[in-house]
Amino acid sequence: MTHGGEPASAESFGPNGEQATEQTDVVVVGAGFAGLYMVHRLRGLNLTVTGFEAGDDVGGTWYWNRYPGARCDAESLAYSFSFSPELEQSWTWTERYASQPEILSYARHVADRFDLRRAFRFGRRVESASFDERAGRWLITSSAGDRVSARFCIMATGCLSVPQVPDIPGLDDFAGERYQASLWPHEPVSFAGKRVGVIGTGSSAIQAIPVIAAQAERVVVFQRTPNFSVPARNEPLDDAFVEAFKRHYREHRRLAREGKASGFGGLEAEPKEQGPAVESAREATDAELRRILEDYWDTGGARFIGALGDTLLDEQANEFVAEFVRDKIRSIVRDPATAERLCPRSHPIGTKRICVDTGYYETFNRDNVELVDLTETPIERVTGHGVRTADGERPLDMLILATGFDAMTGALRRIDIRGRDGRALADHWRDGPRAYLGLAVAGFPNLFTITGPGSPSVLSNMLVSIEQHVDWIADCLETMAGRGAERVEADPDAESRWVDHVNEVAAATLFPQAGSWYMGANVPGKPRVFMPYAAGVDPYREVCERVAAEGYEGFHFA
Ligand code: NAP
Repeated sequence: MTHGGEPASAESFGPNGEQATEQTDVVVVGAGFAGLYMVHRLRGLNLTVTGFEAGDDVGGTWYWNRYPGARCDAESLAYSFSFSPELEQSWTWTERYASQPEILSYARHVADRFDLRRAFRFGRRVESASFDERAGRWLITSSAGDRVSARFCIMATGCLSVPQVPDIPGLDDFAGERYQASLWPHEPVSFAGKRVGVIGTGSSAIQAIPVIAAQAERVVVFQRTPNFSVPARNEPLDDAFVEAFKRHYREHRRLAREGKASGFGGLEAEPKEQGPAVESAREATDAELRRILEDYWDTGGARFIGALGDTLLDEQANEFVAEFVRDKIRSIVRDPATAERLCPRSHPIGTKRICVDTGYYETFNRDNVELVDLTETPIERVTGHGVRTADGERPLDMLILATGFDAMTGALRRIDIRGRDGRALADHWRDGPRAYLGLAVAGFPNLFTITGPGSPSVLSNMLVSIEQHVDWIADCLETMAGRGAERVEADPDAESRWVDHVNEVAAATLFPQAGSWYMGANVPGKPRVFMPYAAGVDPYREVCERVAAEGYEGFHFA
């Protein structure tokens, strides 16, 4: 493996006549967990790799999202690489749900341990990737002027990596400190004695608000849509628990791969399948259902949404679970009017990503926290010194935008990706993303997307899905080498059938009822299509394995 490419041969031309200045076997875009593991596997195949990363170091989402309270909603022992038993035995997590700094340290440790950093060029954003049909190579250009010719281009660009900045009048007039949660500065930010406004009430804000409220003079939360949140029940990990868990690590990993233990709460030291308590809410009395939900609520974590097997399929079951959570909010928040404003009603529970919090609802019992319901009093504009809503201006020293991401497709669309005949990926995806298995796109040979749209990705434990995709891609490249194939491309019909299947699966659930980022609804003008594959990691893995076993059905090798 090289970290620099080798000098390009004279034939390495881009489609517009540009010439590459160096060449490599594979370009990997992104040094988050997906990019790191991809480089590791490619190295094992003796391929030369050039990686690009916009940040100054590895870590991806955990490099950028440094806002106060940032923490994973999957359990540390499960949100970690399984590919190296030595790594999983030697690394020690300190909390049930790891904080951002700890996960970033882990990413750095992995990069050092497997010597992955030298594959990457940091602080450079890939601007374009175009396939040169004649040469059968990709030409990749970066913000730093790199022009690399590669046989393969692998996008490890993340599902939630393009921040969504809201179009609120006057935003740029604000004279105080302004931060985007997902682009938080590396230097410490002090909240002491400050009046802080937070716009947004998704997972990021729900984690940040309790931490900020404990330090700031005053916090004003601008809420457009309330979200459902369940307690994390985070705690320090006990040595005896970790030791016992590690004794069974291989079995825990098998269950995770098969989707039988997601790691979204309730992991025990002894490996155990984590299915729903009942397949359907109809199987139990209301009192029994409440006892089940109470038990999941007490254990904590996002697996709460899977307590009843039909929460995301049946409106009545869903409403039962939703009302249970609303009752919890009413029991926690002392002011009844505030509690009602915090109760979500506009979407079925779980159809927007469930949030996992530490003391979020309790924070609204503090004297220094105010909730502004933007459905009652919309924002008119941001002024030089605060935010003006329909009922007046609230003076602020700091404004935090926790307004989400252009999810799943944003990072791919902002690179000018052109396949055969100069066709732009943005055009191919005009009506929504189209990809075969979320791994490859028809018309874009030798291009792979890790956890791309049409794969379980954001509905799963991302580390499990990343490893599955990386392994599948590496196996595919190995098969190509064995067959002497130079090119692999998804068949357009196979792609269409897969896209239809992904849509059918989503249509059988309640997911499409929410204006969520899963649906692209948070980005003006983005097509409304449910982007992840909702059937679960196990059925999906089986499809991918079958496709490979049957000679890469739906792919053309040349
Ligand atoms: P998000 O869930 O998309 O939330 C964005 C928030 O900003 C929403 O409350 C949205 O309101 C609000 N908003 C957007 N534009 C607005 C505007 N113009 N005016 C007022 N409010 C506006 O984004 P996020 O909180 O960053 O989370 C995104 C995803 O990242 C999560 O769902 C999760 O998958 C991941 N994440 C995970 C963790 C974790 O592991 N614990 C932590 C953070 C994030 P509307 O709902 O009305 O649009």
